[in-house]
Amino acid sequence: MHAVFSMWCNAWCTSRRLQIPNSRCLLDDRCNGEDSIEHYMSCKQLWSWCNSSFFTSGIHPCTEHFCVIGPEDDNSIIAMALAVFAVYNTSNKWRAKNSPCPGALTNSHFKEQVKLASLYSKTTRKFLFNLHRHH
Ligand SMILES: [Zn+2]
Repeated sequence: MHAVFSMWCNAWCTSRRLQIPNSRCLLDDRCNGEDSIEHYMSCKQLWSWCNSSFFTSGIHPCTEHFCVIGPEDDNSIIAMALAVFAVYNTSNKWRAKNSPCPGALTNSHFKEQVKLASLYSKTTRKFLFNLHRHH
């Protein structure tokens, strides 16, 4: 899991280098944040989705180290990795269109990315299976 997670983080850092300065948060057109890792790390849209979809509370990464702040159990780390993956792909998709994602579509985009991640990751499938069994 850690290897996969590091890979996503590296991918995200790559997108940071390519980012256009001063452009807006691409996850939700109602968000006033900017298109930067620093913002996505604290974007309310993202973390409220993450905490409500994965039944976690208070998952919040620290900006500099991509570490999990709060409960450091395996499920929180997987949930955070999925959030990073969702942000990475969703922001790239809308960056290519040169406009932020309409807020009403954000959650379905995130869900799509979780589905995609589960195709490639057995850990993700197990996590989602347990999640749906317990809730
Ligand atoms: Zn935002």
